[in-house]
Amino acid sequence: PLVLGIESSCDETGVGIVRGTTLLTNTVSSSMDEHARFGGVIPEIASRAHLDAFVPTLQESLHEAGVTLDEIDAIAVTSGPGLAGALMVGVCAAKALAVATGKPLYAINHLVAHVGVGLLDGRRALDGRPSADGKHDAGAAAGLGAGQLPENLGALLVSGGHTEILRIRSITDDVELLGSTIDDAAGEAYDKVARILGLGYPGGPAIDKLARQGNPKSIRFPRGLTQPKYMGTAGEKGPHRYDWSFSGLKTAVARCVEQFEARGEEVPVADIAAAFQEAVVDVVTSKAVLACKENGITDLLLGGGVAANSRLRELTGQRCTSAGIRLHVPPLDLCTDNGAMVAALGAQLIMAGIGPSGVEFAPDSSMPVTTVSVPARAVS
Ligand code: ATP
Ligand code: MG
Ligand code: FE
Repeated sequence: PLVLGIESSCDETGVGIVRGTTLLTNTVSSSMDEHARFGGVIPEIASRAHLDAFVPTLQESLHEAGVTLDEIDAIAVTSGPGLAGALMVGVCAAKALAVATGKPLYAINHLVAHVGVGLLDGRRALDGRPSADGKHDAGAAAGLGAGQLPENLGALLVSGGHTEILRIRSITDDVELLGSTIDDAAGEAYDKVARILGLGYPGGPAIDKLARQGNPKSIRFPRGLTQPKYMGTAGEKGPHRYDWSFSGLKTAVARCVEQFEARGEEVPVADIAAAFQEAVVDVVTSKAVLACKENGITDLLLGGGVAANSRLRELTGQRCTSAGIRLHVPPLDLCTDNGAMVAALGAQLIMAGIGPSGVEFAPDSSMPVTTVSVPARAVS
């Protein structure tokens, strides 16, 4: 099926088009720059930016794919989780399109879509004509190979809004949350710590770069929720064995900076960045790999904006290799928020014979990962 996907859960307005497991276009407009002076995403600004960006992004996506709205078989939209106002813009736009065209509408889960993108095949679909600037090369190998999910699949999603480990038995109807952050997301911690260190927004790329000049062993920052009372002991698994916490780490960085300043010493920013990054990456990868090992997961898909982090890629790769887990990392423009992942999951639902959601649903900012798509309301 030819599916148009719409994403607006955070600061990216995305429209993507797929044909089955083939990616046709992935057009994204981000309001990230508008949030920079605030050091984080401001929901109201994000919502307004979606309003401005939606129609141009849709038009560009259709144009690039060389298809008309008429030819589209179905529309898929992120209905949660995410920022309520931001979700509302994409959902209203999708409903309007569905009503105007009479096409079926699928309200889908953003987190599961991050995994669904791994099902896109690796071929470039723009009639074999990738653009000279490489901008349209989004169809490069997605990670898992076309159409077929590994049997024992897990997903590690690490972004500005999420830090989660999932088990996927079926991408269309059996997704389980094994663990997640209990406070800040890992990307959020990067952004907050970058602010403390005066490095600007978004913090991830800046810390990643600066950390290369620092000594990660110079300071030992806490690994949240790793004590026995959370992890459990030999006989019994603790309540937060696969969960993360980053707010204590952020506070520890702030205290550390204050101590250097109180002593009148120069703050070793690169060392702090390196030590902070090591703490995040160490605890993210160790708990993810543990969850995989204890739940029979043999293939792990990495997703989310923090998947760009060089140390995260390195250490996840090493630890997966040692544990005999195959690691799949889609190209970065498909790891961050985009419409193609929404379209990709929509296509999977259609191919599995699952019905559309209708237009009666409301976006759900805390949609659970177990809800892959919203079922249509029964007509009474
Ligand atoms: P969502 O959580 O809904 O997926 P988001 O917009 O918060 O959306 P992304 O756009 O996927 O998340 O990713 C942005 C986050 O990724 C920011 O927090 C940013 O600091 C972080 N990030 C980007 N590059 C890197 C990097 N090289 N190292 C660490 N973090 C990074
Ligand atoms: Mg974003
Ligand atoms: Fe996301």
